[in-house]
Amino acid sequence: PEFISVNNLADVVGVRPAQFVQRMEEMGFEEITYRDILDAETAGLVAAEFNYEAIFDSGKADLYAAPEIEDTSDLPSRPPVVTIMGHVDHGKTTILDWLRKSSVAASEHGGITQHIGAFSVTMPSGKAITFLDTPGHSAFLEMRRRGADVTDIVVLVVAADDSVKPQTIEAIKHATQAKVPVIVAISKIDKEGNNPDRVKGDLSIHGIHVEDYGGDVQAIGVSGKTGQGMVELEEAIVALSEMLDHRAATTCNVEGWVIEASTKSYGRVASVLIRRGTLRPGDIIVAGTAWARVRTLRNEAGVTISEATPGMPVEIDGWREQPGAGTELLQAPTEQKAKDVVDYRLEKSDTQKMGIDIVAINEARRELL
Ligand code: GDP
Ligand code: MG
Repeated sequence: PEFISVNNLADVVGVRPAQFVQRMEEMGFEEITYRDILDAETAGLVAAEFNYEAIFDSGKADLYAAPEIEDTSDLPSRPPVVTIMGHVDHGKTTILDWLRKSSVAASEHGGITQHIGAFSVTMPSGKAITFLDTPGHSAFLEMRRRGADVTDIVVLVVAADDSVKPQTIEAIKHATQAKVPVIVAISKIDKEGNNPDRVKGDLSIHGIHVEDYGGDVQAIGVSGKTGQGMVELEEAIVALSEMLDHRAATTCNVEGWVIEASTKSYGRVASVLIRRGTLRPGDIIVAGTAWARVRTLRNEAGVTISEATPGMPVEIDGWREQPGAGTELLQAPTEQKAKDVVDYRLEKSDTQKMGIDIVAINEARRELL
C-alpha cells in the first residue's frame, strides 16, 4: 500500500498543485487532477522530475484505505454528499436551515437537531441526501489539502438580486478543479428586484452554462424563506445523484472522514462521514493519531442508532484522544493494532505515513524549480 495523492506529492516537492499537474501533463500523463492517487513507482518517477527521490517504506505498521474499485455497479447505492457553496449573504444558511427543519419534521423522533457538521434528508421517495453544513470550515480545507474531497455535488447558491460575486467565482473554481458537478440554486427568488436571467448570463461568463444558456447545468429558483423551489432543488439533487450512480461497499473495513470533533457531556465525540463499510458499536477505529472503540453512534437528531453506512453522517464517542477534523478514519482489527498504528504515526513524518518518503536529491536545486 504505497500511494500518494498528486496534491500531497506537489506539497512535498513545494510546487503549487496546478503547476504540478501541468508538469505531469508535460511528462505525458493524461487527465490528471490533484485528487488522483499515484502508486509508488509513478510517484518515484514524478518526484525525480522535480529532483526528489522517493524512498519506500513497506508501511506495514500503518493502516491504509483499500484502493478505489473501478466497477462499483454491483455495490449498494449510497446517498450523495452535498455541499452548499456561494457568496456571503446569498442565503446558504437559510437554505440549510430549511432543509434541516424539513428533515427533523419528517423524522419520527422529531428530536432537537444536534450540530454534527452534516445531516441527512430523506425524500418522500425514500432517497436520502447528506448535506454538509460547514463548508467554509477547517476540516474541509484540511481534506482538500490532502487531495480528498468528500463532496459529490456542489449546490452553488447565487442570489437572484445580487448575481455572481467574488465568492461565487471561488466556489466555481473549487468545483471545477475538483471535478464536482454543480446544481445552481438561484436564491431569494421571492425578493423584489430578482433577476434570474442576469444570474444565468453572469454564470456562463464564468464557465457555468445552465439549461437555456447553452449548457446542461440545472438552475432552480429557490427561497429558503418561503420554501419556494426547495422540493425541486432536492429532486434535482436526487436525479443527478441517480445519474452519477453513487455506490459504496458496505461489508468491507470501515473508511470515512472526521468532519468535526468536540467534547460533550458524555465525552469526546467526532462527527464522521462514512465512505465505505458499516460502522457499529464495538468497532475499533483510528483517525490520525487518535483511536476509539466505538461506544455509541448518534444521528443528527441525537438518536442512538445501531449502525452507520456509507454516505451517512454519524456522531461517535469512545475516543481515547481527540481526533482532528479532516482526518481520515480507518477501521483497525484489534485494539493493539490501533495503538501500534497511533505510535507509528506519532513517530513518522507526514509522507512516511503514506508509505513513501520523498526526499530532495539536491536541496539546493529546489530553489530553481
Ligand atoms: P449566507 O451568508 O449565504 O449563509 O446567507 P444567510 O442565509 O445568512 O442569508 C443572508 C440574509 O439574506 C439573511 O438576512 C436572510 O434572512 C436573507 N435571506 C436568505 N435567503 C432568503 C430568501 O430566500 N429570501 C429572502 N427574502 N431573504 C433571504
Ligand atoms: Mg451562512
